[in-house]
Amino acid sequence: MHLINADLHSHSTVSDGTLAPEALAARARAKGVALWSLTDHDSLAGQARAREAAIAQGIGYLSGIELSAGFIGRSVHVVGLGFDADDERLIEGVRSIREGRLGRARRIGEALAAAGLPGTYEGALRMAGDAELVARTHFARHLVEVGHFADVHEVFRHVLADGKPGHVPHTWATLREAVGWISAAGGIAVLAHPARYRFTPTEEYALFTEFTGVGGRGVEVLSGSHSVPEQVVYAEMALEFGLLASRGSDFHAPGESRTELGALPVLPGRLTPVWEALADRVQRG
Ligand code: AMP
Ligand code: MN
Ligand code: MN
Ligand code: MN
Repeated sequence: MHLINADLHSHSTVSDGTLAPEALAARARAKGVALWSLTDHDSLAGQARAREAAIAQGIGYLSGIELSAGFIGRSVHVVGLGFDADDERLIEGVRSIREGRLGRARRIGEALAAAGLPGTYEGALRMAGDAELVARTHFARHLVEVGHFADVHEVFRHVLADGKPGHVPHTWATLREAVGWISAAGGIAVLAHPARYRFTPTEEYALFTEFTGVGGRGVEVLSGSHSVPEQVVYAEMALEFGLLASRGSDFHAPGESRTELGALPVLPGRLTPVWEALADRVQRG
């Protein structure tokens, strides 16, 4: 179980990925993934398709989602795994988070226009296409397409990251709500890519304390967003806080994502993989 190639964090066209759930399932299998989860932002719309596609590809599937939550005025992400995707409270909670995104996108568009980049709200909606929601990724892709920036990472660095002109404040779910909905639906809440938040050590300690205090049970130790030293840091944090360890590429798009599906190293042996605790929730053909 420890050595299984699990990739429990990825995005499809339902949120801000560029591959449909079926194409992602096929790519996961081709890249050697044996246990997969589609964790679209704030949407469950891809779950049935992902599960069926995974079963058709002969790989294991865990239900998944990545919820946007607020902590001390900043955004953090909570990955939910192995929950009942038909749970009414979860569905309603997810809808409530998603609902605020359109107004936020309009405010991002206004902020970017004030910074000399007009028309991005319309551009982002075009990039979102049939997605269930609009994300900053869609703004980034639009700004690359019209030639303002070389790649999406440049756009984030210059205008979309926290503290940059296109970053607007937004109220997401609370950590307690996000973790609570996932847990009540029978799933495990996992703190996503903790290194990405760039918290001070004190803030990070507070985040882990709050997260475990409200029922969070796992942390992404291996993430496409983590450097090798950061993997070591969060392996230690998992042990210190008694958290299960997860592994996820956070794959969004070929040619854009730096970490391929299934490409992360194996989890350090002294950690307990989150998928061991979810063995009875894995769906197979
Ligand atoms: P949102 O949920 O609308 O705030 O958008 C967050 C998404 O933006 C993340 O899930 C990533 O897909 C993307 N993102 C955030 N930071 C970066 C970055 N530095 N480079 C590339 N993509 C990023
Ligand atoms: Mn994303
Ligand atoms: Mn994330
Ligand atoms: Mn993600």
